[in-house]
Amino acid sequence: MPVRPLKDKDRYYPGSPWGDKPPEEMQALAAPGTVTVIDGLRGPIVEREVQAGTALYLPQDAMKHVDAYFEYRQLVGDSDGGRLLDEREYEALREKATDPERRLWVYWVEADSGLECKAIGPASTCFCGHRYREHTWADYPETRKLKCKMAGCNCQAFSYVPVKGSGDLKCSSCRQSFLDHDKRTRKCQRGKGSFTSSYSCSCNSSYDRHCTVVQTQQEREASGKATGTPWMQAAAGAGLPTAHMGGVGGFTSLADGIDRALAGLEPGFEPQRVYSSLEEAHNLSGVKPPALPPPRPPRASAASRAGEDIVAGRKSLPMSSKSGPGRPGSTGSTGSRTRPAK
Ligand SMILES: [Zn+2]
Ligand SMILES: [Zn+2]
Ligand SMILES: [Zn+2]
Ligand SMILES: [Zn+2]
Repeated sequence: MPVRPLKDKDRYYPGSPWGDKPPEEMQALAAPGTVTVIDGLRGPIVEREVQAGTALYLPQDAMKHVDAYFEYRQLVGDSDGGRLLDEREYEALREKATDPERRLWVYWVEADSGLECKAIGPASTCFCGHRYREHTWADYPETRKLKCKMAGCNCQAFSYVPVKGSGDLKCSSCRQSFLDHDKRTRKCQRGKGSFTSSYSCSCNSSYDRHCTVVQTQQEREASGKATGTPWMQAAAGAGLPTAHMGGVGGFTSLADGIDRALAGLEPGFEPQRVYSSLEEAHNLSGVKPPALPPPRPPRASAASRAGEDIVAGRKSLPMSSKSGPGRPGSTGSTGSRTRPAK
């Protein structure tokens, strides 16, 4: 097909760095009274009704302000109580977030197997009802505390709750939401007990058998666990904030630990072991691994574990012979091995 010569308006093809349409054409499409002019921006901000709802057109040089907004939201969340931090305060926080040495690694870990079932991200929900980003991640290496910063919240330590969006987790003792419990002691507000849940994780173990584990960069390196993807390390090197990202190190962090293990992405949790332990511990027969690409060469630290036996006969998936969670540093090759309790 012959290539049509470019016309001036072609600068405005969809996704073009100049914008989808010429500014004057955009303004003609605007709903009445919805053109906002901001000093210092190259073009106006135009609101327009489209089939899917209201569309907002921004001049290209507004994008960096949008990025700055999202960055602020990720680092601060609602912990500013609706009043923007002043520039000095925010810069101090951002500086901490850009220091690769201050990176924290936060996971929701199955206690018996040590499998990292969920990577905690800035928007992960805590038992107190607030998000990870509203906890003191910036002070952790010194204080070793992930307290909640929201006004009036007495949560002392971030503790992941497996809920998404407006979902809820009900207490098995009092049948009320996790939110209707003391943030610190977890006592039921109605009834005598404490919060407990039989929620079943994708690893087959229950909520009560999991805990939130926090490691500093040094502790994570010492334990031989993965510390993020090359692009994330490059981002950190380029001065972008990463310390606030919790356990998220790349796109595969968004998958559950069990799925990561089955895909061969969790050192020490090889797919074949996962399938064998499913068969043994849960009497699931006929579980066959899919045809997987050959495993990547193990990291040096993972190699030292490769020869260890699988521990069978425990309550939950016994995929690792490690006794890791809550005790970072105890996961070296000299770590204790638990024998089958048969
Ligand atoms: Zn809170
Ligand atoms: Zn909290
Ligand atoms: Zn309760
Ligand atoms: Zn789990």
